[in-house]
Amino acid sequence: MTRAEILRWLREEDPATLDVLWARADAVRRERVGDAVHLRGLVEISNHCVRRCAYCGISLGRPDLVRYRMSADEIAACADRAAELGYGTVVLQSGEDPGITREWVSDLVRRVKANGRLAVTLSLGERPEPDLAAWRDAGADRYLLRFETSDAALYERIHPPLAGRPPGRFAILERLAALGYEVGSGVMIGIPGQTYESLAADVALFAGMDLDMIGVGPFIPHPASPLGRGEFPQAPAGEQVPSTELMTCKVVALARLVCPEANIPATTALATVNPQDGREHGLARGANVLMPNLTPARYRALYEIHPGKACLREGAAEPGAGGRGRIERMGRTPGSGPGSRRRRPRGTPSSSSGP
Ligand code: SAH
Repeated sequence: MTRAEILRWLREEDPATLDVLWARADAVRRERVGDAVHLRGLVEISNHCVRRCAYCGISLGRPDLVRYRMSADEIAACADRAAELGYGTVVLQSGEDPGITREWVSDLVRRVKANGRLAVTLSLGERPEPDLAAWRDAGADRYLLRFETSDAALYERIHPPLAGRPPGRFAILERLAALGYEVGSGVMIGIPGQTYESLAADVALFAGMDLDMIGVGPFIPHPASPLGRGEFPQAPAGEQVPSTELMTCKVVALARLVCPEANIPATTALATVNPQDGREHGLARGANVLMPNLTPARYRALYEIHPGKACLREGAAEPGAGGRGRIERMGRTPGSGPGSRRRRPRGTPSSSSGP
């Protein structure tokens, strides 16, 4: 699919025409990754962070926020719970926290992998390559690091670089792939200043990067962040991408079309903007993964990257997040096993043809 076609879909508003996009995404999803909905248990292991991301509610710019770091025993108990619930993967996510050391994470990954039942996905921010290599050696399977936006100027505004570190996340994503991780990335939809053109470039990049996992969600303003306080300009009228459920669904559907075998979650942020059916809409329009939150309640409220997180209202095994009933009512099946990316057989095209 060309960038012009992607752009046309992003600007499409007619419900009947969009039904064509939803149907195509759903058909490609069924054909290429099947009806399984893989469940990944999310554990938010630390809300300490050294970054000042202008969008995020747990950035260093929140001196008022109570900080926590889970113990290895607590995290291992969450991983056991994921296995008991029949999930194939545990996702360990945190702020960018140097207090979480290379050795500590390596030991933790070995411990979780020792039960033999779970894939381990890490999402610990931008870490030096020796950390990433050590964790891969310890058995970590996947790494999630969204590039947030491919507009370099916008990215630097909302994600100020640390002194001495190169800006941008693309080099790290390349290293992750070279280390043998399954690599996940993605963007926020509707960042103030994000244009349709740049979002179309983001989607085209998904294909170019051959991502294994693609996570996208609407930008949700956090009142205690610079972006939430309205300190950053919107793009000119007609150019600014709205941070809506509909726009997010368009990107989910396009992500499925350009990366047919990728694992694509219906994200918490999507469920936050539409608590009733956000996840169902995502799953019906290209997504094949849910990430139920397994973080203990006392920590969960402190990992407030954006306000109103859907998981604050839901328990782990309840319908909102990973309820099997909800999946089966959609005619889908709860995934079994780790739900790794299925790679296409040799000789088949990497993306489906144009609209
Ligand atoms: N420190 C890790 C994990 C961050 S949280 C990292 O930076 O990779 C995971 C994702 O949540 C981020 O990549 C971002 O895309 C999303 N996120 C953060 N703040 C958000 C907000 N206010 N609205 C919507 N999504 C947000």
